[in-house]
Amino acid sequence: AGSLELRSLRKSYGGVVAVDDVSLSVRAGEFLTLLGPSGSGKSTTLMMIAGFVQPEAGSILLDNTDLVGIPTHKRSIGVVFQNYALFPHMSVAQNIGFPLRMRDMEEADTRDHIARATALVRLHGLEERYARQLSGGQQQRVALARALVFQPPLLLLDEPLGALDRMLREQMKHELRRVHQELGTTLIYVTHDQDEALVLSDRIAIMKNGRVEQIAPPREIYERP
Ligand code: ADP
Ligand code: ADP
Repeated sequence: AGSLELRSLRKSYGGVVAVDDVSLSVRAGEFLTLLGPSGSGKSTTLMMIAGFVQPEAGSILLDNTDLVGIPTHKRSIGVVFQNYALFPHMSVAQNIGFPLRMRDMEEADTRDHIARATALVRLHGLEERYARQLSGGQQQRVALARALVFQPPLLLLDEPLGALDRMLREQMKHELRRVHQELGTTLIYVTHDQDEALVLSDRIAIMKNGRVEQIAPPREIYERP
């Protein structure tokens, strides 16, 4: 599970074409990075997959089911967006468990899922802390745990390390790789950082002006003739 296909996706805002006829396939379990300058349509693409933005045209097939028209919380997709912050007045466990509450999971399963997600991002011992009492790196881990707590087949991460300083970014980059390997989830990752894309991805899709210009494994992208 977790194969994704985008067919001729399109979205414009007023006169600005944000995403212009994007088609691509992502294998189950693949780590795909959307890499490109600011304004190239990366976030809009991700938001359409998540269901926060409605495409003007095209389809989004997750395991051969078209998601267009299905509400966000029914899409079984985990998301980390920069502006999709933690709830500061909730504990770590409450934040991580939030998507489970939305899905009416029963208490025993909820505890179990929270404990597993917490261990996966190495936050054990911090369950009762308020989110606002955590460091930046810890908050990013909580956001990641919250995204994957219901074990979605697809994870969407939009610049999840953007707010961190250099050292923390390095560390979290490796944590991300480990988490992806342990979970086997399909992952679509948005960044404008070439090093992150190079280290993390199975394939990189280069975006420019709302289009995918090239899509290939990192070694083909970085080995210029
Ligand atoms: P990226 O994630 O690559 O920075 P975006 O998808 O955020 O790119 O933006 C693509 C284009 O769409 C940009 O020109 C941006 O200004 C425009 N855009 C994005 N969101 C909105 C919005 N809510 N309203 C108007 N224009 C938008
Ligand atoms: P509430 O007061 O809303 O019940 P809690 O913080 O007690 O808030 O719990 C929120 C959710 O997190 C509950 O589903 C609870 O079972 C779970 N939870 C709380 N602490 C832990 C923990 N240490 N390990 C795993 N799950 C926990």
